[in-house]
Amino acid sequence: MNRGATLLLNHEVRSIEVGDATTTVHTSAGPVETRWVVNAAGLGADILDREFGFERFTVTPRRGELLVYDKLARPLVDKIVLPVPSALGKGVLVSPTIYGNVMLGPQPKTLDDRTATGTSEAGFEFLLSKGAKLMPKLLTEEVTAAYSGLRAAIDHGD
Ligand SMILES: Cc1cc2nc3c(=O)[nH]c(=O)nc-3n(C[C@H](O)[C@H](O)[C@H](O)COP(=O)(O)OP(=O)(O)OC[C@H]3O[C@@H](n4cnc5c(N)ncnc54)[C@H](O)[C@@H]3O)c2cc1C
Repeated sequence: MNRGATLLLNHEVRSIEVGDATTTVHTSAGPVETRWVVNAAGLGADILDREFGFERFTVTPRRGELLVYDKLARPLVDKIVLPVPSALGKGVLVSPTIYGNVMLGPQPKTLDDRTATGTSEAGFEFLLSKGAKLMPKLLTEEVTAAYSGLRAAIDHGD
């Protein structure tokens, strides 16, 4: 902002019109004309890529479910505890949070729905079984919340 940038919030990009010298980004709040566009749209990045006339990658939501333990569990965990990684990834880990809680997760699941941020009973059971192996004492502590988030995975390596 100090260098003259303008931040346009609440401008959902709906379509793109590539001209000779500039590109017009059509948004929910009207058109924006610009020389350069950086596509950093996360879960929507492939949709915007197609708006530019490409079809270079497809985003698949990878849901991660996590359990949050009460702050009373924090003395158990002063660093991130990871299992030995497998070919599938780093697996389920136990981690202290900056808020003073402890997290167990994630339980990964590939989905089609880009809005499916719900948690599941299967995810809860899966995380308890993994947590029992990694840090059995943690399971005697109270779970205060469960949440999930969607990671924008694509069909080839970064
Ligand atoms: C459960 C979970 C655990 C994770 N753990 C880790 C970890 O341990 N380490 C790690 O490094 N990363 C982790 N990640 C991944 C990390 O959170 C993401 O890689 C990072 O947030 C991506 O940032 P981004 O700015 O590229 O995209 P995002 O944060 O997704 O931002 C994209 C933005 O684009 C906007 N947008 C989309 N479409 C449009 C449109 N048409 N018009 C206007 N705006 C649009 C969206 O609203 C959003 O605000 C995790 C993710 C999840 C879900």
